[in-house]
Amino acid sequence: MTFASLIGSKYKFVALVSLLIFAGFTATSLTSYFVAHNSIAKQITESALPLTSDNIYSEIQRDLMQPIFISSLMAQDTFLREWVISGEMETDKITRYLAGIQEQYQTVTAFFVSNESANYYHSSGRLKAINPDDKQDAWYFRVAQMSSEYEINLDYDTAKPDRLVVFINYKVFDFDENFIGATGVGLALTKVKALIESYQNRFQRKVYFIDRAGKVTLRGEAYQDSTRLFTTPEYQALLSSDSITEQAAFSYSDDGNHVHVNARYIPEFDWYVVIEQQDNQLTSSLVTSLIFNLAVSLIITLVVLVVSYFLITTFQTKLEYMATVDKLSGAYNRHGSDILFKQCINFAKRKNTALSAILLDIDYFKKINDKHGHLVGDKAIKQVADVVKSQLRNSDALCRWGGEEFLIILPECDLDSARQLAEKIRAELTKTAFLKDDFLSASFGVGSHIDGETEAEWVNRLDLALYQAKHKGRNRVELANS
Ligand code: GH3
Ligand code: MG
Ligand code: MG
Repeated sequence: MTFASLIGSKYKFVALVSLLIFAGFTATSLTSYFVAHNSIAKQITESALPLTSDNIYSEIQRDLMQPIFISSLMAQDTFLREWVISGEMETDKITRYLAGIQEQYQTVTAFFVSNESANYYHSSGRLKAINPDDKQDAWYFRVAQMSSEYEINLDYDTAKPDRLVVFINYKVFDFDENFIGATGVGLALTKVKALIESYQNRFQRKVYFIDRAGKVTLRGEAYQDSTRLFTTPEYQALLSSDSITEQAAFSYSDDGNHVHVNARYIPEFDWYVVIEQQDNQLTSSLVTSLIFNLAVSLIITLVVLVVSYFLITTFQTKLEYMATVDKLSGAYNRHGSDILFKQCINFAKRKNTALSAILLDIDYFKKINDKHGHLVGDKAIKQVADVVKSQLRNSDALCRWGGEEFLIILPECDLDSARQLAEKIRAELTKTAFLKDDFLSASFGVGSHIDGETEAEWVNRLDLALYQAKHKGRNRVELANS
């Protein structure tokens, strides 16, 4: 593997690790986002919205219970029936009766309409005569025909035409079960309206009532679109159905917004109470936390990227050092010198500069080992290396070629300079005391690289020169044949 491919694979490795980490983070962030989103949506449709419509429905029922009961009492009232049967004499009496009911039960109106005289009596007196041609009076003729005892009707008050009132219209019969008129009370839907308001404000939910044609019939102030017709397929399915759906939960898209809906049928009004909630109001905090999570993931990934890059670079440098440097002497080992040797030859060839080398071998080293032991021998090898290094330039390289054999590579150095350097090292070694008073010497083979010569051929020439030095008595420098 070349140095460049090593570097390349290092970048690839760091990039891959970072990518995996970031992909992992993103996957978990997105998964938790969707899980949370789904559970919130589920919680809205399955519990929050139905609960709101249940609350509103029970408020309505509570509001209606009492007036239905009062109206029933009025329809059964002996005084009222006898007063009608005996010819509706003295209007004061019925007026006082109705005013008493209205005051006692805090209703907005109390009324009686006589079938015989067509008079509409109210707590403030006789209001008018009922007319079958008057649209406002249509309710009465409906009540007269209906089979049930009473109806609940949302209408404008006859006594105060701008006020929307929930009427309980009860049929009144004489003692022989003949229909003699309609009575009842009316109440304002203030509580229900206030409830709608509070739900809209507290939960940002739209609350309104729609009839079965999809027209808004009752709403809080915040919801202004009272003419809205519910045209989405989901609403159409609910409203066009022949059988009445008690409760429906669905969602639809409106201008890119996801809207959750709960609709509940209110039989008393023949209306639906509808609660709508937009998805994005709830999920915006989820999106914020998703973005935060992704940002944190990105930062962590970047930190991992930087840390792993530096760790790998450090370990790579360390490994390269360990692979090329001899631990004992600190000189390049055989592997390191092979690489260096090739590089120096190529460099000298390209730049056309001189390249020389010195091969040195410690004299009679076996004796040192024999006399002092291997560990001391090791120490001596290290000391020789130190002495040699002290004589070299920065650009020169010292390699441990064999056991106690060193090769010095000298770029941009001619044969004569190399020989002088070898002499200097030789002299320096003989002056250096290795163990108390034990002195060492070494023999040297010096030679410059010849163009076209292989490394092996060159080293061979150096070896022969070194052999010459040994042969001629050691502690000397010999030049290689060229
Ligand atoms: P010569 O003058 O002919 O070189 O004699 P020499 O005794 O030095 O002979 P040679 O170079 O052939 O022998 C080298 C000896 O160095 C042999 C080996 O036991 C010893 N040696 C080689 N490597 C190491 C080493 O790492 N540590 C130690 N302590 N001794 C080593
Ligand atoms: Mg040797
Ligand atoms: Mg030797």
